[in-house]
Amino acid sequence: MTAALLEADSVGVHFGGVVAVADVSLTIAGNGITCIIGPNGAGKSTFFNMLTGTVRPSTGRVLVGGHDITGSRIETFAHRGIARKFQTPSVFERLTVRENLDIARHPAAATAAKTIDLILSLLGLDAVAGTPAGALAHGQKQWLEIGMALATEPKLMLLDEPTAGMGPEETEKTARLVTDLAGRMAIVVIEHDMAFIRALAARTLVMHHGKVVADGSFAEIEGDALVRDIYLGRR
Ligand code: ADP
Ligand code: MG
Repeated sequence: MTAALLEADSVGVHFGGVVAVADVSLTIAGNGITCIIGPNGAGKSTFFNMLTGTVRPSTGRVLVGGHDITGSRIETFAHRGIARKFQTPSVFERLTVRENLDIARHPAAATAAKTIDLILSLLGLDAVAGTPAGALAHGQKQWLEIGMALATEPKLMLLDEPTAGMGPEETEKTARLVTDLAGRMAIVVIEHDMAFIRALAARTLVMHHGKVVADGSFAEIEGDALVRDIYLGRR
């Protein structure tokens, strides 16, 4: 039996007296999409932080490919094939799109130029490869940052609110992009946009006050009374 790509086993963390994440478990066995939704402050980004070496869990374990690397440094997670796109795009504005992808390459894997070309074409950014990233439209910046995660040739990519600030057309394009990429790797997506989550039609976890309160297909989650209460109560 091969080890799961990712196994988060009852992870939790508190900041002072605030419990940000409590007892969250998630196993990602192989390629495909998993979604995480939940109100602001639910602990979604903090959960990602513990899966990428940004925050050390107070409790629980994180195994990547069967190796317990709980609390290891960011580099250790990256070397084991985990890449992450942050909530706010942080591209190098003065460098071109291609230069941004070059910088993001895995230092050990020496991603070939043709891999960068493939990423540019997957993202639909071929035509702006030579354009400074600062001149891109907001949606293109988000895609470039997904590309920077792809340039590390990850086995698992974590996307934190990839459609933030996008209009409906860009959101649809992002859903198609994420669906395409999920044939090549595992992807976990944090998102608020229900149209986007519906388009992904994947397993969906609902977080609330640091805990997973529902876990099922998008259709199951959408029909769940508790989930409706959480959203209606907050919005
Ligand atoms: P989400 O991404 O679901 O909106 P977060 O994971 O960003 O939620 O935050 C969860 C909770 O943890 C919030 O109450 C937030 O204020 C708190 N939190 C997150 N990071 C820190 C930190 N570094 N220090 C203190 N509190 C934090
Ligand atoms: Mg967040």
